[in-house]
Amino acid sequence: MTSPVVEPVEIFLASRNAKKLREMERILAEHLPDAKVVGLDDVTPYDEPVEDEPTFEGNALLKARAGFAATGLPSVADDSGLCVDALNGMPGVLSARWSGPPKDDARNNRLLLDQLADVPDERRGAHFVCAVAFVHAGGELVVHGRMDGTVVREVRGTGGFGYDVLFVADDRPGVTTAELSVEDKDAVSHRGKALRELAPLLAQQLGSAG
Ligand code: IMP
Repeated sequence: MTSPVVEPVEIFLASRNAKKLREMERILAEHLPDAKVVGLDDVTPYDEPVEDEPTFEGNALLKARAGFAATGLPSVADDSGLCVDALNGMPGVLSARWSGPPKDDARNNRLLLDQLADVPDERRGAHFVCAVAFVHAGGELVVHGRMDGTVVREVRGTGGFGYDVLFVADDRPGVTTAELSVEDKDAVSHRGKALRELAPLLAQQLGSAG
């Protein structure tokens, strides 16, 4: 039996997004109730790597390794994106900057709509992918999450971010993921799934390896 972790444990998440930090703390709480998640704004600045790997997993590992090297804390990083069937899996790792720099969600969404203008409804399948990497003194691991759905023909909804206004999840038909509550999206999303898979593994590894 794994002994429970009694010491408060600090975990570094390579992100500046306060929502992501709190989301991870919430999901970890069941397995690591004393975990405190700190982000890029809470640590001494360091040279952040360019995300130039061809896979989500590669980019997540790159960021988690850099975080661990710089902070010495058990480090987590994620990389995610939208893979569209009719575009052979693109934008994929290029999702954030699909329409070119600087990152602009509305411009990315317009480009995606244009690219799929002639694609019939039955061929508008797509899925979001999230890879989450964990790097600490005891080793490395990567988990994945996926959310299947379709790309609709016009933007709908005000929640979420990125391509949410164009995406209807198979698990929540009839509304875009930008029309779901935060909790409901977490329940079906690629990131929620990956983080829920990571939580017990992370607790186990920190409990046994420190
Ligand atoms: P990041 O991995 O959080 O940096 O996300 C990369 C890009 O993928 C984002 O800028 C979005 O364009 C897209 N993306 C990732 N996850 C989601 C999501 O849950 N909803 C909508 N877009 C997403």
